[in-house]
Amino acid sequence: MRYETLTVHAGQKPDPAYGAVMPPIYQVSTFAFREVGKPGPFDYSRSGNPTRQALETCLAALEGGTHGFAFGTGMAAEATVLGMLRAGDHIIVHNDLYGGTYRLLDSVTARHGVAVEFVNLRDLEALRAAIRPATRMIWTETPTNPLMNLLDLAAIAEVARAHGILSVCDNTFLSPHFQRPLDLGIDLVLHSTTKYINGHSDVVGGAVVVKDAALAAELGFLQNAMGSCQAPFDCFLVLRGIKTLPLRMEAHNRNALAVARWLEAHPGVLRVLHPGLESHPQHALALRQMTGFGGTFSFRLQGGQESALRLLSRVRLFTLAESLGGVESLIEHPWSMTHVSMPEEVRAAAGITNDLIRISVGIEHVDDLIEDLRQALE
Ligand SMILES: *Cc1c(COP(=O)(O)O)cnc(C)c1O
Repeated sequence: MRYETLTVHAGQKPDPAYGAVMPPIYQVSTFAFREVGKPGPFDYSRSGNPTRQALETCLAALEGGTHGFAFGTGMAAEATVLGMLRAGDHIIVHNDLYGGTYRLLDSVTARHGVAVEFVNLRDLEALRAAIRPATRMIWTETPTNPLMNLLDLAAIAEVARAHGILSVCDNTFLSPHFQRPLDLGIDLVLHSTTKYINGHSDVVGGAVVVKDAALAAELGFLQNAMGSCQAPFDCFLVLRGIKTLPLRMEAHNRNALAVARWLEAHPGVLRVLHPGLESHPQHALALRQMTGFGGTFSFRLQGGQESALRLLSRVRLFTLAESLGGVESLIEHPWSMTHVSMPEEVRAAAGITNDLIRISVGIEHVDDLIEDLRQALE
């Protein structure tokens, strides 16, 4: 079946109990055993739940994997993947990524005796030079949040594979609609389903998809052992969101590109960071690796932080809020909001400056969005 069909049907046969067409919410903690030593297909909801299984099957299908795992948040998904590492292991992490991921690696993973090294993975020579005998994992995010830099996933996966190292890609910004890391050779693809996959800003969730049975067994063990799984009601909401993922992603992409082109021509705007623009330094890689650009991007204003804060105080339709990927348009200031968990010098070195604005372009009429930015930039 093709991807659009899978978003509606994967993992979602009519329910065996009553024929419910959509997966019911199995809001239960525990399941009756048939007799001593003979549980049914499920025994306890941390270990497995029919609503969660429907979502996990669907997620696996969309990413072209064999096994999917749903977590309580994106960070819970990340913590579970990092639970595969042991003291003495070394992990190479791209040096420009989501602030919460940075915080988890720098202040939790590192505390457990794992050597965490941040490297610019746009430079493959730097990646090769960083590999040690103890390197167990390479962690990527592309496009990066909020700078919209791209990593060449196929090239990184090839280096990882040649050294027997696991590769991870945080695919939150594009969703499987526009980028399929497993097809490019990545071992584990990860999401904050809070963003585009759910798409309605009404749930937090995370996901991991793999296509290797041994990896799947380890992740299933960790999800149960760590208790990081997603609750049945939230799984139901994410599944409901997925059904319109293809339609929403096309609308986000179209609106964001139109807004980016409009901003690029505005005299108050210094630079627009959007991989779909010809001015993006990695535009060619974007066309090769992605089938669209998503709905989130950043731009810098003339006039520094003062102009940025003025814009944020003047918008009416864009809501000043963290997060992204919902049907509604959001605007934020990474320097003081989403990326404060990165030390100031790390933010500055990465290029997250105080004149930078990030927007998540929703699916409203694009003329209303541009009108709002026009009046706010006046
Ligand atoms: C939001 C986000 C996360 C964290 O996900 P939560 O659902 O907020 O825990 C991880 N990676 C990226 C790229 C994100 O945007």
